[in-house]
Amino acid sequence: MVSSIDEVWKKRPLIISGPCSAETEEQVTETAISLAATGKVDILRAGIWKPRTKPGMFEGVGTQGLGWLKAAGKKTGLPVTVEVATSKHVEEALRFEIDLFWIGARTTANPFSIQELADALSGIQVPVLIKNPINPDLELWCGAIERILKAGIEKVGMIHRGFSSYGNTLYRNAPMWQLPIEMKRRFPGMLMICDPSHICGNRSLLLDVAQKSIDLDFDGIMLESHRNPDQAWSDAAQQVTPEKFSEMMDKLVWRSVHSESAPRTLLTQLRTQIDLIDDDLLSLLSQRMKLADQIGHYKKEHNMTILQAERWNGILERAMAKADELGISSEFIIRYLNAVHMESIQHQYAVMNG
Ligand code: PEP
Ligand code: MN
Repeated sequence: MVSSIDEVWKKRPLIISGPCSAETEEQVTETAISLAATGKVDILRAGIWKPRTKPGMFEGVGTQGLGWLKAAGKKTGLPVTVEVATSKHVEEALRFEIDLFWIGARTTANPFSIQELADALSGIQVPVLIKNPINPDLELWCGAIERILKAGIEKVGMIHRGFSSYGNTLYRNAPMWQLPIEMKRRFPGMLMICDPSHICGNRSLLLDVAQKSIDLDFDGIMLESHRNPDQAWSDAAQQVTPEKFSEMMDKLVWRSVHSESAPRTLLTQLRTQIDLIDDDLLSLLSQRMKLADQIGHYKKEHNMTILQAERWNGILERAMAKADELGISSEFIIRYLNAVHMESIQHQYAVMNG
């Protein structure tokens, strides 16, 4: 018997795994059986229609794959999920009684497509997980969620799969954790799943990213797995075998917001200290801006530019030299000083131009 999606939806952590793409019936079935044997997966995934950047790349096996996946679900007792991007996909996936849909990052970025999906889903109760758009635009992500909610879908969740950027970065898609954190604030209680596979783009970083998401109170993980990852027809570098998936799940440390055993008083004391330090930091920042105002008056009087590149470099270098010693990452210091510097420029601009 296949577990009901309504029951599975409530499970925490919620674990989704399976191949990036369905390739053959054997590949789907074998991967599903090995995954189910670990006892650590709640929902099986497989991409049936693949949104590919260039023509001529593998674009998915299409409708026949729905039958393979559904059969694998029945064999293993697991609900199944596929990506839908058009009303035709929704129609086909419903015909094969797919239990849960996810909306891909490229689709979330396109309000026309999202509205088409919302219209196709109207009046139907299939849970929908919405990936973040490829670009770091929170409003697009929110808009997609709102459209799907407006269609009357009751079970809606989010998947954080990182954001694309130009040039080589450590990640295939930068995690930009502050964005999903903000989404958790805007949609309290809404399911938030992390997709380390598409964030990392390679196997070596998966565990770190998965652990980070747990530490940030995410509700589950979607991880791509394949019986023979190196031979996968899509996303080969980031997929893991079901055995590796199982090892990873064992290595993760699951945490929760509250703990029965932890002394709350210690946490409260530490938080009080943090609040006091934040108060101090805010008042120091305010003092710093008052000095910037004075500098603004001075520069105005002497007809000097606000930006003095040499001075700004000096500030950065001095802080970077200290950062390491103080156990603060240089990446953070740069972000912090950039923000402070921009605010200081605003203040001086206001002074100089009234
Ligand atoms: C996928 O999950 O295989 C996929 C295509 O993901 P994304 O939409 O995040 O690129
Ligand atoms: Mn993929």
